[in-house]
Amino acid sequence: MPAKLYCDFFGHDYKMTKKVTNHVKEYTCTRCNKQLTTNSNGKLIELTPKYREINTTLERIYNNRLMRSKRKTISSSIC
Ligand SMILES: [Zn+2]
Repeated sequence: MPAKLYCDFFGHDYKMTKKVTNHVKEYTCTRCNKQLTTNSNGKLIELTPKYREINTTLERIYNNRLMRSKRKTISSSIC
């Protein structure tokens, strides 16, 4: 059965592939490689090129903030 048909029938098998921020993550289906992301409302939506761009920006901001807070408190828990 083609992967896409299988997914339509049984549902996608999403795995987290990228953590953008604490709240925004990217997911990829292990069968058909369809990609999802969390939007600002916490809902899962299709990862379009526009959202990929937004996530790249978010990630940069998030990492900058993380670095800055790391300098302040070294013992803060970052998993
Ligand atoms: Zn799928």
